[in-house]
Amino acid sequence: MFKKILVANRGEIAVRIIRSCREMNIRTVAVYSEADRDALHVQMADEAVCIGAPQPSRSYLNIPNIISAAVSRGAEAIHPGYGFLAENPYFAEICETSGIVFIGPPASAIESMGAKARARELMAAAGVPVVPGSPGLLTKDSKIADIAGDIGYPVIVKASAGGGGRGMRIANDQTELEKAVIAARTEAEAAFGDGGVYLEKYLQEPRHVEIQVLADQHGQAVYLGERDCSIQRRHQKLVEETPCPVLTEELRQQMGETAVRAAQSVHYAGAGTVEFMLDKSGAYYFIEMNTRIQVEHPVTEWVTGIDLVAAMIEVAAGAPLPYRQDRIGLQGAAIECRINAEDPAYDFRPCPSRVTDYLPPGGFGVRVDSGIYVGYNIPHYYDSLIAKLITWGNDRQEAIGRMQRALGEFRITGVVTTIPFLQRIMSDEYFLRGETYTNFIQQHLSDR
Ligand code: ADP
Repeated sequence: MFKKILVANRGEIAVRIIRSCREMNIRTVAVYSEADRDALHVQMADEAVCIGAPQPSRSYLNIPNIISAAVSRGAEAIHPGYGFLAENPYFAEICETSGIVFIGPPASAIESMGAKARARELMAAAGVPVVPGSPGLLTKDSKIADIAGDIGYPVIVKASAGGGGRGMRIANDQTELEKAVIAARTEAEAAFGDGGVYLEKYLQEPRHVEIQVLADQHGQAVYLGERDCSIQRRHQKLVEETPCPVLTEELRQQMGETAVRAAQSVHYAGAGTVEFMLDKSGAYYFIEMNTRIQVEHPVTEWVTGIDLVAAMIEVAAGAPLPYRQDRIGLQGAAIECRINAEDPAYDFRPCPSRVTDYLPPGGFGVRVDSGIYVGYNIPHYYDSLIAKLITWGNDRQEAIGRMQRALGEFRITGVVTTIPFLQRIMSDEYFLRGETYTNFIQQHLSDR
C-alpha cells in the first residue's frame, strides 16, 4: 500500500480523501492556491505545498507544479478528486511517466469516455443502449436538419467536451435548431476550447439514473446500485438519492450489468459512474460515463457500507476487488443535498463571503462533508459547493424526514446558501411521492 498520497484538489472532496487516507495510515500532501492558504484541506493534511495563483489554470490545473510537488514530497500516488484534472487523460499519462500512480482509470479509458460523441459510438458498439442521435459529431457537411428530422423533434444539441450542464441547447423545430447549434458550439468553445457538438433526441420527463461501478486491474468489476439524480437546475444536480424510487430489482440488475459491460469494454479500473436516462416505459439510455469519484458518492457508500475513496486507493495499488456481486447488499435509503453558497432569490448567483457562524447538524443517520468552518473566507474563484448533507433511513420516507430535520438544524451565517430552497424540495408533494423527473425544479419550484 502507498505510504504517501498527494491530493490534487480542494474543498470538501480534498477533505474527504484525506479522511480515508488517515484511516488507511497513508500520509497526505495537500496542494493549494494562494487563495486557499487557510482552507480546511490544507490544515488537515500532513503536508501542504502552494502550487500557484488563485486562478485554477495557474494552480489546481497546473500540471508541472502538481507533479513537482508530488515528486519533491515523495508522494507515490495522486488522487485527483472530481473536476480540475480528474478527467484529463494527459494528466493521468504524465503521472505514469513520472513514476506516480494516478488514482483513477487508465488514461486510455478516460480518453475513450472523455469525448461524449465518441463514447456514444463506442457504447453502441458494445451493445449498450444509447439515446437516438446523430452518428458522431456534426460536421460542416452534416445535413443537420435531415438528421434532426430522422431523430424527431425535440432534439438536444450537446457539446462533446461538455460537462457541468454546459454546452446544451434544446430545439423544438428547424429554426430553433440552427440557433441551438450555434449557441451550443459557442458556449462549448468558450468553456472547453472545443466546439464539437452532436444531436440526441430530447427525452420528455426522463429520470437521471446512474450506476456506480467499481473495477480492479484484474478484470473484475461490480455495480453498487444506482443514484437517482433527477432533481437538477440547468442540468446540474442539486439532490441525489438511492435507491431510485421507481427502479425494480430486475431493472437494477439489468442496468447494473449494462454499466459493468460499458466499463469493461474500455478496460476500466477504479470507481466510475455510468449515467443513463430512464424513461417512463422503463427503457434506459446511456448518456455518458464519469471516470472519477462523483460528488454524490456518499449515498452509495451509505447503503453499501463501502468506502469508495478507500476502494479507489486499494484498486490503484493493485489489490483485487474483495467483494463479489452477489455479496453486495443495499440497505435502506440515502439522500444527499448539495449546499451551495448561492442566492436562489437572484437566480442562484454565487455569494462567496466570510462564514461568521457554522454549526452542522448531527445525530443518527446524518453525515456532513464540507470544507468550511467558522471564520473561513470562501474564495470566489471556485465552485460554490460548500457542504453536502447526507441522511440515511430504513426507507425513503425516513431518510427524507431526517433530511428535513437536519436541514432545519444546519446553521451557516455570513453566507447566503441554498438551504431554504432545499427545504422547499424536501417538503414538495411531488418529491415526497417520488415523482422526480429532470424538469422537476422548472415545473414545481421555479418562481417564474
Ligand atoms: P453533463 O456532462 O454536462 O453533465 P449530461 O450528458 O450528463 O451532461 O446531461 C446532464 C443532464 O442533461 C441530464 O441529467 C439530463 O437532465 C439532461 N439531458 C442530457 N441529455 C438528455 C436527453 N437526451 N434528453 C433529455 N435530457 C437530457
